[in-house]
Amino acid sequence: MENCIFCKIKDKKIPAEVIDETDNSLAFLDIMPINKGHVLVVPKDHYENLMETPDDVLKEIITEVKKIAQAVKSATGADGISVINRNRRATGQEVDHLHIHIVPRFSGDGLKPWHGGKYA
Ligand code: 5GP
Ligand code: ZN
Repeated sequence: MENCIFCKIKDKKIPAEVIDETDNSLAFLDIMPINKGHVLVVPKDHYENLMETPDDVLKEIITEVKKIAQAVKSATGADGISVINRNRRATGQEVDHLHIHIVPRFSGDGLKPWHGGKYA
């Protein structure tokens, strides 16, 4: 995809701090980290979001997410790891190329989860 920022990273047309690579996935630092060590895992091929991505690619992605989550936890000394994925604009997705956020979390880091409602 010509105008996709993550395709450009994959094609090395723009720089990124790549930390790992598999046959079908790439892991690199988010340019605006929620906490230091915030990584994005993306498929090398362009799929707009989770629902559009073939199962075999997703299996490789989730295995890579696990590996990177372990590495980020170990490298940052995080107390926990948030794994976040947004699909379509209503959720806040800004880059239309599937990406899974791996965010190191620290007790009391102040990042708030959403508030749940109630069923009638
Ligand atoms: P979204 O809002 O779509 O869930 O997440 C997009 C993420 O991509 C954001 O956290 C943003 O900081 C990151 N991002 C946007 N442009 C670039 C870029 O050029 N390089 C890198 N490494 N991350 C980017
Ligand atoms: Zn793309």
